[in-house]
Amino acid sequence: MITPDQIIRSDRKTLSVTVDCFGNVTVRAPKKCDEGRIFAFLKDKEAWILHHKTKAEKTDLELPQEDLNGYSFLLLGEKCTITLTQEKFVQFEPQTHRIFLPEKNAKQRLVKWLKENALRIFTVATEKRAREMGTSFVSVRVSSARGRWGSCTHDNRIRYTFRLIYAPKEVIDYVVVHELAHTKYKNHSQAFWREVERYLPDYKVKRKWLKERSILTRIF
Ligand SMILES: [Zn+2]
Repeated sequence: MITPDQIIRSDRKTLSVTVDCFGNVTVRAPKKCDEGRIFAFLKDKEAWILHHKTKAEKTDLELPQEDLNGYSFLLLGEKCTITLTQEKFVQFEPQTHRIFLPEKNAKQRLVKWLKENALRIFTVATEKRAREMGTSFVSVRVSSARGRWGSCTHDNRIRYTFRLIYAPKEVIDYVVVHELAHTKYKNHSQAFWREVERYLPDYKVKRKWLKERSILTRIF
């Protein structure tokens, strides 16, 4: 039996159910709907809900707690783990996927380190793709945006959220191609998507990867 994590009642007439990226089940129901009807509805949708709950668990990611020691998250798509140290600098050990982080101001230090690396990696990726796509851009910046992975202004200034650094390189490449396609098309028209597809035929797989991991926009 499926037990909802949350029931939101409102003036609506029908029942609906959603599963978020953590696998939480939310039911939206009419104000006077009795529980029997809600549970019958959930029973009916059981297969769909379980499918989405498993998918949510597949991401296997948690939000950071106060104490960062032992916390794991993704870096370029690979799971890496934080060890707090008494050292002065942030160090990354690629062989073991461990990040050694100064205990003092740990979170600020880590975010700064992530932003520096994000800017370096995203700039190189954007320059490379711009040459291939025969286009140019004015600048690459890194933001702390949570609502979008990237953006491109009307005068071709490109921004990526530093949190894109959690994604695998092929997924970052999709966002890069997407923003560079905006230097040619300032919309999401068919012509825009054709341009993306021309340089990244399987872009939909990458876009889906990001859609299924919106939790990444909430880490740090
Ligand atoms: Zn876009």
